[in-house]
Amino acid sequence: MARVLILGGGFGGVVAAERLAEQLGDEHQITLVSRSRQFVFYPALVRLAFRKCQREDVSFNLRQAILSHRVNFIEAEVARIDPDARRVTIAHGEVEGYLHYDYLIFALGRRLATERVTGFYEHAHHLMSVEKALRFGKAVAEFHEGHAVIGQCPGARLPVPIYETAFALSRLLEEQGERDRVKITIVSPDPPGLHLGDSEVTVALGKALAAHDIEFRPDFPIDRVTPGAATTSNGHGINFNLLMLLPPFQGCSAASYLGITNDEAYINVDWSMRVVGLERTYAIGDCVNFTGPKMGHMAVRQAEVAAANLAAEIAGHIPVSHYSHEVRAVIDEGGSDSIYLHKDIWTDEPASVRQGRFWTWAKRAQEKYWEAAHSR
Ligand SMILES: Cc1cc2nc3c(=O)[nH]c(=O)nc-3n(C[C@H](O)[C@H](O)[C@H](O)COP(=O)(O)OP(=O)(O)OC[C@H]3O[C@@H](n4cnc5c(N)ncnc54)[C@H](O)[C@@H]3O)c2cc1C
Repeated sequence: MARVLILGGGFGGVVAAERLAEQLGDEHQITLVSRSRQFVFYPALVRLAFRKCQREDVSFNLRQAILSHRVNFIEAEVARIDPDARRVTIAHGEVEGYLHYDYLIFALGRRLATERVTGFYEHAHHLMSVEKALRFGKAVAEFHEGHAVIGQCPGARLPVPIYETAFALSRLLEEQGERDRVKITIVSPDPPGLHLGDSEVTVALGKALAAHDIEFRPDFPIDRVTPGAATTSNGHGINFNLLMLLPPFQGCSAASYLGITNDEAYINVDWSMRVVGLERTYAIGDCVNFTGPKMGHMAVRQAEVAAANLAAEIAGHIPVSHYSHEVRAVIDEGGSDSIYLHKDIWTDEPASVRQGRFWTWAKRAQEKYWEAAHSR
């Protein structure tokens, strides 16, 4: 009998638990620990902020869903991992003390390093949780004129919701007859696109931004926010009446002292999703040290690969599944300028780019599919 412990109940952790429950015999024990029983479907948070869906549409109760797959679910905070003793310290929650394991999967997502931007916490909105998205939505509803600044701080690695927020704001103001009273600017440390040198996406995005009269300011690495102004490390500033910024990301703190991460605490893994330098341990999702944006579909694919290889390892076989790092993203413009991009990040093949209203529909259909498939 093997005890498999999965840390984190997001896209990666949930899919890993489901796949292992399918592949391992009943004699093996699977336990998932996460700090909240609510699973959050993050790609819908822009729509939540703009009141296109409700809070209950973007989350579901993980305990009910997971239990139906014969996985033990524990709502608790992971504090520390001791690989030599093969145990995890649980700080508070339904269980306190130690959980012992034979095999471990890290799926703890990213940490928001808001402390790296002075004044971020006090003066900027963001979209990285249901509560923050609702709070930003309230500010949007009260905003009728002035300068809206939307962007990402250095290290945020999540461009899709930046563009979607700017497009949604532009459309809302048009519907309210207020578009000409508002200037919208996107700020980013990077050029337009998804950090992939993808020129076709840059061109498509540039056209969509121009059609909405949205300004794009690249090379804008914000490191300080004060009431009404954001400034960069290279001395530039921008005034705002409404500010939504994605904060810098880091890997999970629970792995940062184990000697298995890079200097931003992202965990080093190989193509089989095994942690480099630690036996019987896998890592998946936003917490791993791969280049490019951090995305939910990558976490799902990595979970499938890790589950297959962990099941093989328990059976005494060599790894059977190989991860290839691809981005598949839809940037929902709300209409015919929505963009789909597919690119294999580890090869020089150019990105495949499609554009049209269909992709708006496809993104919403995917949301419904995810809920139907995982919240039973
Ligand atoms: C606004 C927004 C829009 C997005 N849009 C898209 C999109 O269009 N397409 C796309 O592919 N991706 C999108 N993403 C990115 C996607 O949501 C993430 O890549 C994905 O959630 C990563 O999955 P994960 O399992 O690695 O981490 P998460 O989903 O973050 O899950 C991590 C889990 O670990 C738990 N946890 C963390 N620390 C602890 C601890 N110490 N103890 C116990 N539990 C802990 C957390 O509570 C959480 O349940 C978007 C994200 C946001 C915020």
